[in-house]
Amino acid sequence: MSDRLVLVINCGSSSIKFALRSELHSSALLSGLADRLGSNKATLTWQNADNKETLALADGEHATALAALLPLIERHARQPLSAVGHRVVHGGEHFTGAQIIDQQVLDAIRANAPLAPLHNPANLAGIEAAMRVFRQIPHMAIFDTAFHQSMPAHAYRYALPEALYTEHGIRRYGFHGTSHQYVSAQASKLAGLQPNNGAWLSAHLGNGCSSCAVLDGRSQDTSMGLTPLEGLVMGTRSGDVDPNLHAHLARTLNWDLPRIEAMLNRESGLLGLSGLTNDMRQLEQARSEGHTGAALAIDVFCYRLARSLMGLAAALPRLDGLIFTGGIGENSALVRGKTLEHMTVLGLKLDTERNTSAPRGQACMINHSDSPAIMVIPTDEERQIADESLALIPH
Ligand code: ADP
Repeated sequence: MSDRLVLVINCGSSSIKFALRSELHSSALLSGLADRLGSNKATLTWQNADNKETLALADGEHATALAALLPLIERHARQPLSAVGHRVVHGGEHFTGAQIIDQQVLDAIRANAPLAPLHNPANLAGIEAAMRVFRQIPHMAIFDTAFHQSMPAHAYRYALPEALYTEHGIRRYGFHGTSHQYVSAQASKLAGLQPNNGAWLSAHLGNGCSSCAVLDGRSQDTSMGLTPLEGLVMGTRSGDVDPNLHAHLARTLNWDLPRIEAMLNRESGLLGLSGLTNDMRQLEQARSEGHTGAALAIDVFCYRLARSLMGLAAALPRLDGLIFTGGIGENSALVRGKTLEHMTVLGLKLDTERNTSAPRGQACMINHSDSPAIMVIPTDEERQIADESLALIPH
């Protein structure tokens, strides 16, 4: 089988993450980040197995960063690229899977911008600039929301007047789809099941956090909703709050909407609860030194996660296992342990020794022998994006 190469691009408003992935190698041939775009301090940093380099970008334009990427890719790729795979945050109801990008797809991503006003315009700008730089190569869009389009109406509808859904698309969409899809497929492999077989609860715990119920490779329900704010406690996002909170703050403190949005998205979550940091590693350290805010933040994070996962079990006919992934899920034995203390009703039992000695960067089982599987599975959204991109091109 000949190897094929995909350039994976994740274009945000002030950064572009990229990775050169080969079909046959598990790790990236080259990866990097163009950072602080939009400022005069923009840089492009890249690394491969041997070294890491940084280049100042003459201006902070996304197009300049992508143009600087072209010679780099040509130098490191042993053959022409087969595809460029773009991460796109919101596919709305238009997209249930990856798409080859054409004018119609660009128009639909633009049409979904009101649902993701920070992300979709940046994704779109990145796609358009990349299509000018990497010509004659198919560009693919892989949507964070697409995996969750299999949710049934009883999971994706809010109990709001129907016209808000039919006329304005107000519903639950879910995000982190590439990660939940990737780790649940890996879980089936690790459990020795057929690919895309199995009933899983998946917890993606990074700076953003979401949980998902996956049945036979299809998302049944997930914790994020219309926007990525719904659901779990995250690094700086509140997750679920009383929907009357907005009105209450406006009435009693005279806060306007931008202030409330900023508070809920950037000043809440682990940071808000601890009064210290959004970083779980630092919180664990502070907790061990007796910081009560850090201890509370971790307690709330774990309890709310357990509650969400137990709620999502309602979407499954049985439970084959629970998956932890993302920076926190893969690395924090404390978070896994505390979360599972609240989940004994589901019969999940952790093997304490396996939990604390789980090898970094490797998929492993950490459950007791008389428990459904509990797994730590490193996520690899770039692999998923590369694979979905390649699946769209005929051999
Ligand atoms: P992103 O969502 O930005 O990709 P990551 O998946 O890298 O983020 O997750 C970042 C989070 O993972 C941070 O809160 C970080 O502190 C946490 N984390 C990383 N390593 C550890 C560790 N060894 N122990 C506890 N938390 C960790």
